[in-house]
Amino acid sequence: MNEVRYERRGPVAMVTMNRPQYRNAQNSAMTYALDAAFTRAVDDDEVNVIALAGAGEHFSAGHDIGSPERDVDVSFDRKSLLWWDHVGAEGGDARFAREAEVYLGMCRRWREIPKPTIAAVQGACIAGGLMLAWVCDLIVAADDAFFADPVVRMGIPGVEYFAHPWVLGPRVAKEILFTGERFTAHQAKEWGMLNRVVPRADLESETLALAGKIAAMPRFGLALAKKAVNQAEDLMGLRSGMDSVFGLHHLAHAHNAEVSGGDSLGGQNARSMRDTR
Ligand code: ZN
Repeated sequence: MNEVRYERRGPVAMVTMNRPQYRNAQNSAMTYALDAAFTRAVDDDEVNVIALAGAGEHFSAGHDIGSPERDVDVSFDRKSLLWWDHVGAEGGDARFAREAEVYLGMCRRWREIPKPTIAAVQGACIAGGLMLAWVCDLIVAADDAFFADPVVRMGIPGVEYFAHPWVLGPRVAKEILFTGERFTAHQAKEWGMLNRVVPRADLESETLALAGKIAAMPRFGLALAKKAVNQAEDLMGLRSGMDSVFGLHHLAHAHNAEVSGGDSLGGQNARSMRDTR
């Protein structure tokens, strides 16, 4: 699996998305490589904290909707749900099966990793990239990081893991969805989405320093503290809210497919999304 690198730095497992030539666009191969790396870190008794990083200039440009290794029609060994394979299914049946497993299900699975996770974000963190950062417990960003969820341009009300109102507050969530514009690390920090903003050159050392402090705490205490906050977020509606919005998300995909000859992305790809900005 070269889509993801796995390294041990003392008590910290460094998991690095490794498709820098595509700004770490997330295809299914990378998704399952990430899952394998997280599983290895959970199983390793010497690891107390997991850091998630992106190789190269950018954390992640989002879901792979245009690289030559796009693999939406490939079967993988499914992990997050007991549901049939999307490959061989049609229309909304296929889209629902795939996105429930690969996007929403995997993100929920990773949010519940029992060890603390820290995202180290530089450069672009766009759409599906936000999902990867948001499932981590803490986020450290370089001062060059920028964020956006522009999928309303596709007629879709936000990415599949719809945490926007919980991580940004409803007012800001609406602004970033309605405009689709980029926001900076400093804005994201002000809005409470980030824990630290650090110089680009210090991103790894600052992430490891924070991870090192956390790694000194007792493992079970950390796992319970994580569960406590996650349960509180779920009681604030995160989990059930996401379930209800997932239906709207799939209404949008189905609408796009209905009016544009089967294209659930409404004729948009990574290039056109960038060019409309
Ligand atoms: Zn979708």
